[in-house]
Amino acid sequence: MTCFLFADGTRTLAEFRTLGGLGEHDSASLIALAAEADLRGRGGAGFPFARKLSAVAESVDPVRIAIANGEEGEPGSVKDRVLMRTKPHLVLDGLRLAASAVGAQRSIVYVSDIESAVVLRAVIANEGSSFGSIEVFEVPPAYVAGEETAAVRAIDGGPALPTAKPPRPFEAGVGGHPTLIANVETLAQFAMLAARGASEFGRGTLLSTVHSSTHSGALVEVPVGTPMREVLALVTPIQDVRAILTGGLFGGVQPAALFDVALEHDALRAAGSALGCAAFHVVSASDCVVELVTDAMSFLGRESAQQCGSCLKGTAAMAAAMRRIAAGDHADTDVEALGRWAVSLRGRGNCALLDAACLMLSSLLEHWRLDLESHAVGHGCELCRARVIADDFAITRLRVPPTLVPLSLEGITT
Ligand code: SF4
Repeated sequence: MTCFLFADGTRTLAEFRTLGGLGEHDSASLIALAAEADLRGRGGAGFPFARKLSAVAESVDPVRIAIANGEEGEPGSVKDRVLMRTKPHLVLDGLRLAASAVGAQRSIVYVSDIESAVVLRAVIANEGSSFGSIEVFEVPPAYVAGEETAAVRAIDGGPALPTAKPPRPFEAGVGGHPTLIANVETLAQFAMLAARGASEFGRGTLLSTVHSSTHSGALVEVPVGTPMREVLALVTPIQDVRAILTGGLFGGVQPAALFDVALEHDALRAAGSALGCAAFHVVSASDCVVELVTDAMSFLGRESAQQCGSCLKGTAAMAAAMRRIAAGDHADTDVEALGRWAVSLRGRGNCALLDAACLMLSSLLEHWRLDLESHAVGHGCELCRARVIADDFAITRLRVPPTLVPLSLEGITT
């Protein structure tokens, strides 16, 4: 089993380069390397990284920008900030390589985590000749601030809110110029790929945040394609897992049938879920699924940027209906309306938040309908009947502390 990022120990940038380093690569060979390894984005959508690089590299506009996206608004994930705080040289090396692959004159790390920004600036100052031109752009934290068009808008001086696509950033990004935006973990993987070569790199690794309301969490690095069951077992006995919130809040609430699915974008998508940022919240036997989904929907409703009509009205309406059902104070039509909205609102927002809300509801209706109906007719299930869902619920159960110690699966199991 191969782990790269955290198994790299406390190696410094100088040691990393002495031990094989980044090698000499031109633009075409870097793009070919990303294609050969089928390197996918680690920010959420899993888009092929080589295609992103090519789209910017082939632009006729000679002014190009490369951005390392470290804005991690997902409450269930800590991977990006732990990576930036502990392995900044991998992120910066990956950004340098990506900038070279697309011919970018300007490179920016986009981040809200203050500690990460301090660490990155210190490395950039110390390694002046390698990283001298890299800027660190800080943005206030928000759930949608990490969306790529939000990053472009913020760097151009506007609010960190998504805009309609097209144009996508590779067509017209910062200052109207073609812009590559890549998640910081993707870039760290790219640096490891360039240093090790495609055959040793294989399919690379994933950083996954796993947590539950009853056990301490873990941030683990596992090979791409590891069965989900192995990762869940790191934080809780698998027989105690009733369900999982997958992909942060982007993959819905899924049943045990998903436990043997491989952790990779295509496999999870085919199973009706999403890998997203590879964050998983374990729903234990003592957790009420309806209550958790209500928390998640309330969070999404609050974090909506409220600039697309369907999301402004739809996410708020879905969250309100879930709160009424969870509290046993619903209208007769609420369950049926949830099913309708989960289908009709998909794909109608500028960003993925509205789709996340729809998938959350459709997974609830598909896999946990009895739980939902027991709330609808019985004023709550046995697990939560005594509890009250507050209107302004703070999503504490789904938020993990930002300081989980990074571990490799190899390190835990041996
Ligand atoms: S879908 Fe919602 S969160 Fe996303 S841009 Fe539109 S209003 Fe904002």
